[in-house]
Amino acid sequence: MSTTTTSIAEIRSKIERSERITPADALLLWREATDEEMRSLASLVRVRFHAPNSCTYLLMRIINTTNVCVAQCDYCAFYTLPGQPGGYVLTQEQVFAKLDELLALGGDLAGFNGGFNPQLSLDYYCDLVRAIRARYGDRIELYAFTIAEFMYLADHASLSFAETAVRLKQAGVRWITGGGSEILTEDFRRRHSKFKYTVAQFFEAQAAILAAGLRTTATMVIGFDETIEERIEHLDRTRRFQDETGGQESFLCWNFKPWSTPLGEQLHNIEITPAEYLRHLALSRIYLDNIPRIRTSVLTQNERALEGLLYGADDFDLPIEDEVTQKAGATISLNFDKILDVARSLGFEPTYRHVALQHAATVS
Ligand code: SF4
Repeated sequence: MSTTTTSIAEIRSKIERSERITPADALLLWREATDEEMRSLASLVRVRFHAPNSCTYLLMRIINTTNVCVAQCDYCAFYTLPGQPGGYVLTQEQVFAKLDELLALGGDLAGFNGGFNPQLSLDYYCDLVRAIRARYGDRIELYAFTIAEFMYLADHASLSFAETAVRLKQAGVRWITGGGSEILTEDFRRRHSKFKYTVAQFFEAQAAILAAGLRTTATMVIGFDETIEERIEHLDRTRRFQDETGGQESFLCWNFKPWSTPLGEQLHNIEITPAEYLRHLALSRIYLDNIPRIRTSVLTQNERALEGLLYGADDFDLPIEDEVTQKAGATISLNFDKILDVARSLGFEPTYRHVALQHAATVS
């Protein structure tokens, strides 16, 4: 049973006993622990799951199938409303070209992330996945789609989450990732994305995804105007869902890129510092004691993300594309060796994590 703690030393003792920290402990850590203490405490939890100097990575791209969206999140620079100029929907051939390029670079994971486009039916997405499976087999794994898109597809098709999950699974979907979670508090969503479903619906959808035999992940985005209490609420809801289901295979946190977004303009396009990102990563590792894989975001932190390995993370992506974050200011480097060398210089030996091969091995 968790006890009330009043000092960093008491929290350290708890963690050394593999005892879970409380929201109040998390708040105390955030407010009073030094960066070095956060790093050290996160490393204590990390070694429960991973050898100290090991880490894994993926080479992947995010394919943005359509930028037409009706959700109107105020932190988004990517979308175009239906009927406005500049809207697009990728053809299957355009998607294939992106997958061919990914394979040629040595990657094997494509995440799909697009807008809530009322012109696209569930069949468009099912046909796309079937066509990819027919062409590539198990050479590529798909994070298709995000939970946010999944909820919209269900709504748009007037199907339950359970029925929608089954339809997507039959088409060849294996993963629906936690994308679209941002900050999982009802108040945050009312402030910034009121057309993007409630927290309760988010977890209801994720439970249906797991019940259908699909796999899923947890995500989080920080650096909007959320409070530390909201961040901890997000972590706490994630940990509770994981206690109930055990189904979230990883946790990835990235930071808001403000450029060209309405919210960014209000916040004077100020991003959180790398130091704040790293502290949050450490807090996530300490709090989420039931999710073995904690991922650091090269997409939004570039080479600084690798320091996340010292703050509890054990895995990262080398992304080659994500229009959503690139439009808001993210920059991508294809100098993979240089990025991997940063991990090595920090004392880690990165190993490629073959997501596609993992599936082939599971079913063989
Ligand atoms: S973040 Fe996603 S759901 Fe929100 S407006 Fe942008 S594309 Fe649409």
